[in-house]
Amino acid sequence: MNPSPSSSPTTTPYPSNEEILSQIKSNQSNQTSFLSQMVSIDSTLEKGEEEVMDFIWNFLKTSFSSQEFEMEKVPMNESILRNLPGFSPIHWKYGNQYNIVLRNKQQQQQLSESNKSLILCGHADVVPSTTTTTSSSWTKCTTPFTPTIHLNRLYGRGSGDMKAGLSCMIYALLTLQQLHYIPSGTLQLEIVCEEECTGNGCLALRHHAAASSSSSLGEKKKFDAVIIPEPFPFIVTAQLGVLWFQLHIVGKPAHVLDTSLGINAIEVAFDMYRHLQSTLQVEYNTNINSREEEEENQAFKDIKQPICFNVGKIKGGDWASSVPSFCDMDVRVGFFPSQSVECVKHDVEECLRKFVLESSNDTMKHVKYDITYFGFQADGAVLLEEFCNNNNDDDNDVDDEVSKEEEEGKGDDSIPLSAVSNDEKETVVQDSETMGINETKDDNDERRRKKLKQTNDKSDIHSSSEQRSSLQKEFVALLQQSHHSATTITANTDNTTNTTNNNNTTTLPLKPITCTTDARFYKLYSQIPCVTCFGPEAMNIHGVDESVCLQSVQDVTATLALFIRDWCGLNQV
Ligand SMILES: [Zn+2]
Repeated sequence: MNPSPSSSPTTTPYPSNEEILSQIKSNQSNQTSFLSQMVSIDSTLEKGEEEVMDFIWNFLKTSFSSQEFEMEKVPMNESILRNLPGFSPIHWKYGNQYNIVLRNKQQQQQLSESNKSLILCGHADVVPSTTTTTSSSWTKCTTPFTPTIHLNRLYGRGSGDMKAGLSCMIYALLTLQQLHYIPSGTLQLEIVCEEECTGNGCLALRHHAAASSSSSLGEKKKFDAVIIPEPFPFIVTAQLGVLWFQLHIVGKPAHVLDTSLGINAIEVAFDMYRHLQSTLQVEYNTNINSREEEEENQAFKDIKQPICFNVGKIKGGDWASSVPSFCDMDVRVGFFPSQSVECVKHDVEECLRKFVLESSNDTMKHVKYDITYFGFQADGAVLLEEFCNNNNDDDNDVDDEVSKEEEEGKGDDSIPLSAVSNDEKETVVQDSETMGINETKDDNDERRRKKLKQTNDKSDIHSSSEQRSSLQKEFVALLQQSHHSATTITANTDNTTNTTNNNNTTTLPLKPITCTTDARFYKLYSQIPCVTCFGPEAMNIHGVDESVCLQSVQDVTATLALFIRDWCGLNQV
C-alpha cells in the first residue's frame, strides 16, 4: 500500500503535506504568470498551435532538469493516424503541428508495489471566440486573448478549458523537483493538440508510445493511471460519444414572387434537423434502460437527458429575395458508450432518408442532400467501471442535481470549419430517389452487441476485473484523500475557521459527463485501468467571459503533487 498523506511525514523521507503546500503557494505568482502567458497565445484551430506548443516546450526545457527528465516532440502524421482506431477525419493540414512528452528517465525508476506509473495529460488548443470579440460581449478583458484577473479569477479564452489544468500538472511536478524529489514510478506529462475537434493529438501520442517501445521514451510498461485536469471539479466516471457531421442541402433558387417554384435549402435543413432531434435524440435518451447489453450506459441514469444534438454552425443562401440554393449545417450528436460511431452514422442516415422519403410534402421528396463526416468520431467510454455499477450506489457519490446544462458543451462544441477541400471529405451521398438501403433495427442491434463485446474483450486482455476494481478503488480513494489534504491545509493556512462547511474540503464527488475528452484514448485503446478527468473550477467555457478560479488552480496543483507523491513514490535528488 502507498503511504497515506497524513502519515508520510513521519514514516517516509518524503516532503510533508505542509512543505508541498508551502512550495506551491510560493510559486503562485509564477504559475499565474505562466498561465496568463499561455492564455495570451491564440491557439484556435484557425490560428494553429505551434506558438503555444513552442512556448510550453521552452518553459519545460528551462524548468526541468535534463539529468532527471527527458522530452520529445511527437509530430502529427495524418497518413499514419488515419488508419488508427479512434481517428477523426479532418479537412485541414497538420503542417508542423506537434505534441509534447516529458517524463522522468527510466533509470530513476525503482519498481515496487508502491511505485505506480501515472500520465498527466492536457490539451493546448482552445475553441474560437471570433464571434465574441466585440467589446460588448467580453466584459472582463479587452479581448479574449488579453488575460485579466478580477476577484481572484483569471479571465480569457482557454483559461478554464484547459490552460489552467495544464499549469496545474506542470507545476505539481515542478514543485516536487524544487523540493529535490522526482517520482520513482514513471510520471509522464503529455501536452496534446487538437482535443476540441478530433482528439487526434492524443491519438498520435498513444500510437507513438506503443510503436516506439525500443526508444528511450517508449511505453515499456503499461501505465496504471491517467488524470486529465480538464475543468471538472469532480472525478469523472464516464463520458459520452460524440459524432460531428455536415448536412449539405441542395435547394432550387427562384424569385420570391413565387416561392413555390423553388426549394428553400435553409428551411429544408431545419426541417431535417428538427426531425433528427424529435426522433433520434428522443429515441437515444429513452433507450438508456431498454437494452440488456447497455449496462455501461447506467453511469448516465441520473441525468435527465444525457444525449444532446446541436446545430453548431450554419451557412446558406445568396440573397434575401431569392429562395436559397444551398445550406450547410454542422451538427453534433451525442451517444452512449454502448453505441459505436458506425451505428450512430447509420442511425442518422436512416432517420434522414426515411424522413425525406416518407414526407407528405412533394418538394421534400425531391430534395437532394449529402452527409459529410469530419471532426469528432469519438466513442463513448466508461472510465471508472467500479464507480458506474448499479450495485455500487453507496460508493458512487453521484449528485442527482447534475444536469445536462452543467455538463453540456464542455470540450466538444463549435469550431471553424471553413476552407473545406472536398476531396478530403468522407461523404455519403444521399438522394431520396435512388437510396435503396433497407437495413433493419435488428441489424443495427447486432452491430451494437459486436461493438460492446469488442470493448469487453480488449479490457480483459490486460487485467482481471478484480485487479482493475481494486486498483480503481485505491486510485479514487487516494485522489479524494489528496484533494482533502490539499484543501484542508489551504483553508487552515488562510485562517479559515470553519473548514467543515467549506465546499472545497468536502469529499470529491464522482460524476459522468455528457461530452467527450481525450480520456477515451487511454481507456479504450491503451487499456489503462484508472482514467479520469479532474481539474480546476471554471465558468463560461466555450462562452464569453470564460474564467478560472485561481484558488481552485492552487488546490488542484496541490492535489496532483500530493497524489504523485503517494501514487508514484519519490526519489530524493
Ligand atoms: Zn477541454
